[in-house]
Amino acid sequence: DSKRRGRNGWQTFTPELAEQQLHRLQLETHLRRAVNNDEFHLVYQPQVDMRDGGVIAVEALIRWRNHSLGEIRPDKFIDHAETTGDIVGIGDWVLHEACRQMREWQEGGLKVPRVAVNVSYRQFLGEDLASSVAAVLAEYGLPGAALELEFTERVLIEDAPATLRTFAALREMGVMLTIDDFGEGYSALNYLRRLPIHGLKLSQLFVQGVPENHSDVAVCQAVTGIAKSLGLELVAEGVETERHRAFLLQLGIHVGQGFLFAPGLTPEQIRDTYRTMLMQA
Ligand code: C2E
Ligand code: MG
Ligand code: MG
Ligand code: MG
Repeated sequence: DSKRRGRNGWQTFTPELAEQQLHRLQLETHLRRAVNNDEFHLVYQPQVDMRDGGVIAVEALIRWRNHSLGEIRPDKFIDHAETTGDIVGIGDWVLHEACRQMREWQEGGLKVPRVAVNVSYRQFLGEDLASSVAAVLAEYGLPGAALELEFTERVLIEDAPATLRTFAALREMGVMLTIDDFGEGYSALNYLRRLPIHGLKLSQLFVQGVPENHSDVAVCQAVTGIAKSLGLELVAEGVETERHRAFLLQLGIHVGQGFLFAPGLTPEQIRDTYRTMLMQA
C-alpha cells in the first residue's frame, strides 16, 4: 500500500503509473505507424434536417483498428496525436480519404451534399492548410462547397498569425467553416466576430441535458441567440431522443446530428440508407 511505498521511496513509481506509462508508450509507438499500416478508416454520421429527415451533410469520424491494441476510439488517441504531432499526418489522411469517398459516392450517383472533416489546431500551425485543402479538392474534382471543416475553440485560442489568412483563403474556395463543440471551451466570443466562419455546432454536453436541466437549457438558448445575432448556422450535436429534437426545433434549431437519427455509418451503409433520398434522377 501507499505507506510501504512511501518508506521505500517509490511514491512516484507505482505499478499503476508504470503501467500507464507503458500503455502510453505503446499507444504512441503504434500511432506513429498507423497511417502507413493502413489502420484507420472513416465512418460517416449524417447531419439531418430535423423537420423532414433530409441529409444536410455527413461528418467523417476516424476509427482506429490496431492488431495488438484492438479498437481505439478517437477520444483515446487524438490528444496523444496532437501532443506528438502525428495528428498532422493523420489529419492529412482523413482529408484525402473523406474527399476520395465523396468522389466515389458521386460517381455511384449518390448525391451526398457535403462532407464535414474534423481538423486539429495543429493542422493550422504547420503547413499551409489552405493549399493542401485546395490540392485535395482539385485531386478529386470537388467544389469547395462539398467540404466542411470543423475545428475547435482551441484554434481560436492559439491565434496563430496565419489563422485568419487560412480561414479567408478557405472561405474564398467555398469551403464551409464550423466551430465544433461550441460552448465547451473558453468562450472566445471576441474571435467569433472576427472570423469568417459559417456556423457553430452546439456541444452535446448541453444538448443531452435538455429539457430537464435548467442550466443546459440556458446554454442552448444563449448559443442559439449568439448564432442568430451573428448570422451563423447552428447544428445541434448528440441528439439522442425525441424530447431533444422537440426542444431544439422549438428553439429554432433545425439541423441535428446524433444517435436518434444515425451513428457513424460505413460508406456502404450511407449508400444503402440514403439511396432513395440522394440518388440522381
Ligand atoms: P466530434 O467531432 O464532436 O464528433 C461527435 C462525437 O460524438 C463522435 O464521437 C460521435 O460518434 C459522437 N456522437 C454522435 N452522436 C451522438 C449521440 O447522439 N450521443 C452521444 N453520446 N455521442 C454521439 P467519436 O467518433 O468517438 O469522436 C470523438 C471526437 O474525436 C470527435 O468529436 C472529434 O473531436 C474527434 N475526432 C473524430 N474524428 C476525428 C478526425 O478525423 N480528426 C480529428 N482531429 N478529430 C477527430
Ligand atoms: Mg466534429
Ligand atoms: Mg462535436
Ligand atoms: Mg466532441
